[in-house]
Amino acid sequence: MRILITGSAGFVGSHLVERFLTEGHTVVGVDNYLSGQRRNTELFLSHPAFRFIEADVSTAIPYDGEKLDWVLHFASPASPPHYQQFPIETLMVGAQGTQHALELAHAHGAGFLLASTSEVYGDPLVHPQPESYWGHVNPNGVRSCYDEAKRYAEAITMAYHRARGVNTRIIRIFNTYGPRMRHDDGRVVTNFIHQALRGEALTVYGDGSQTRSFQFVEDLVEGIVRLMGVAYHEPVNLGNPDEYTIVQFAELIRSRINPTLDIVFEPMPQDDPKQRKPDNELAKKLLDWKPNVPLATGLEVTVRYFQDLTRVLI
Ligand code: UDP
Repeated sequence: MRILITGSAGFVGSHLVERFLTEGHTVVGVDNYLSGQRRNTELFLSHPAFRFIEADVSTAIPYDGEKLDWVLHFASPASPPHYQQFPIETLMVGAQGTQHALELAHAHGAGFLLASTSEVYGDPLVHPQPESYWGHVNPNGVRSCYDEAKRYAEAITMAYHRARGVNTRIIRIFNTYGPRMRHDDGRVVTNFIHQALRGEALTVYGDGSQTRSFQFVEDLVEGIVRLMGVAYHEPVNLGNPDEYTIVQFAELIRSRINPTLDIVFEPMPQDDPKQRKPDNELAKKLLDWKPNVPLATGLEVTVRYFQDLTRVLI
């Protein structure tokens, strides 16, 4: 197959590039490096089946090559500090960027897959979150640029499916971690690992009783590949249901890297969801999928990646 991936230099995008190249497909990557990293493109540039286009998909997707089989739309900042630094770009890539990717898929008669997010559930009042839950989102708060962009992206994806017959898929990605995240993206996994590797105190926001469930990137990629093979057009949650409070997570990172470190408490960011955990029943039934990588194993791989990277950066 020939697969175009927007956000190919991003964390999840780059793992998809790797998976499809390994399986013998041709991959066209597109990224403008707003949050993606050049080193994630450089990994594949010498591969004969990889082509890269540097472009902002919110403006246009300048692809004029052979017929595409799939368009996977992963371009967007995804870390709260990062999307709050670029709120307009985040809204644009969720709105215009999604439409450009849908138009491209439509023109090529290709399948289209949208990377949506557990953030569409906002600060959820239902726990764990099934796909049928409509969410509890502040429509104009500091997270709205991301949450509402992705909610609009889901709406326009369903509209192109219903009105234009595009063969669409929507995944809702829950907190995901692994190698090739930006070390400075400000999310909890990278902050804690970097703080611990530098011998600094771990910064817990609020009292740390808020929860998250962390999925290793390999499990996510497997779920995406399986969903591409099934004609199901409604959203599907992909996440690991093992839930931790942020304090528990800080203690886990500390115990693995440096048990003598302090944990310090800092103010809670606005609209920070108090709890998050996927209901995975649909993915189990539909895709025979469940996350396989335990947190300890995934963290070991991730910490090793950042240890190697820290040596390069220093
Ligand atoms: N968090 C924290 N310390 C940090 C970074 C994040 O306590 O240095 C908290 C944050 O307030 C949130 C959780 O960890 O409750 C997950 O944050 P992240 O930015 O990774 O992603 P989110 O799930 O909020 O999109």
